[in-house]
Amino acid sequence: MSRARASELAPPNAAPRLDLAGLKGEFPIFEAQGPRFHYLDNAATGQICRAAAAALVDFETRARANVKRGVYRLADEATQAFEEARARIAAYLGAREAREVVITSGTTHALNIAAHTLCARLRPGDEILLSLAEHHANIVPWQLAAARVGAVIRAIPLDAEARLDLDRLTDLVSRKTKVIAVTHCSNVTGALTDLGRIREAAQAVGALFVVDGAQRAPHGPLDVQAMGCDLYALSGHKLFGATGAGALWIRAELAEELPPFLGGGEMIRRVTIERTSFAPAPHRFEAGTPPIGPALAMGAAAAWLAGLDWQAIHAHELALTERLLAGLRAIRGVRPIGPEGLQARAPLVSFVVEGVHPHDVCQLLDMRGVCTRGGHHCAQPLHEALGLEASVRASIALYNEAEDVDALLEGLEDVVRRLA
Ligand code: PLP
Repeated sequence: MSRARASELAPPNAAPRLDLAGLKGEFPIFEAQGPRFHYLDNAATGQICRAAAAALVDFETRARANVKRGVYRLADEATQAFEEARARIAAYLGAREAREVVITSGTTHALNIAAHTLCARLRPGDEILLSLAEHHANIVPWQLAAARVGAVIRAIPLDAEARLDLDRLTDLVSRKTKVIAVTHCSNVTGALTDLGRIREAAQAVGALFVVDGAQRAPHGPLDVQAMGCDLYALSGHKLFGATGAGALWIRAELAEELPPFLGGGEMIRRVTIERTSFAPAPHRFEAGTPPIGPALAMGAAAAWLAGLDWQAIHAHELALTERLLAGLRAIRGVRPIGPEGLQARAPLVSFVVEGVHPHDVCQLLDMRGVCTRGGHHCAQPLHEALGLEASVRASIALYNEAEDVDALLEGLEDVVRRLA
């Protein structure tokens, strides 16, 4: 397995060959939807791969029992399968131990755990540093949790290419900064964050470092230890698993220090009517019945992804991104937003069509079987910083082909002819 880092998502010199038909065949949706289906909304959700679908159906129809509580064989097997899924996610993340992975319902749930448990340690006036490029899932939980303790939220601004302006870190980070929480990859511009610089800034003042990996995780195995972060969040449905599960990696030493977020069954050591003592991590963060089937699907997807040739996939995804960017720039009235080049970016491009609302663009593209997303993509501060209300987003995954990009570009030419 080739373990990728952000900087490795750059075009390699020689593009290795990829069996694209074989890869696409691993995703049942393409057979079901037929040939006129160009799915370019992967940043919203990826399609489920066969391995994940099989794990989900197998559990729900042949092996279903609740986890962590039964003493009969079926329940014990379900618990073992659930813990195996945790271990598979841990391996995909490059975690030292499976117990560092909390199973959640998705990135949003994971970031809510992060915000509420970390903020419990803060005092009035302490600072949390976010960025203007964050998805609302990495803003709103911090606002809610910060308000409870009187902490202050600050934000890294954007540079001219809508990347995080890390030259501003020295002004923004001080001894008051207790948490830095940023996206690994913008869900609007595709820009990858230089986590190394942020890690240094966080370490210099002893701040905890949280990374929203929702958009980076589908583009190859990760190495949380090399990243030097303390918490990392991802969603299983974007990772070609089922909807309903995600994960939060918490560095082991830290996890044991943090208070629980949700309370309920399965996260306790002992309950009396007056008080409760809590189970060790990760169970203390997993109150109630977890999303067992989706977690198994996420584990199966991660294990399948980990065995792929990521050098070839990165080359393929970047070639498609290059084709997309060049095609967009060639259409009058179409303006891509975000980084100009291909360096340190994921295969995701947002753009505006002058004079046409993004929803109209998406609807016209849909008539050609092209699935894109129009709106603020849950990133209003980023759009506001760019002076925009909304944009259209095309996001590529490992199974996309040049035909998908071309169908989008032809559709856009038609939109411009008709409406712009
Ligand atoms: N963070 C980023 C960067 C995202 O793109 C998304 C979803 O699009 C989320 C968080 C929230 O993910 P979920 O809805 O799976 O919880």
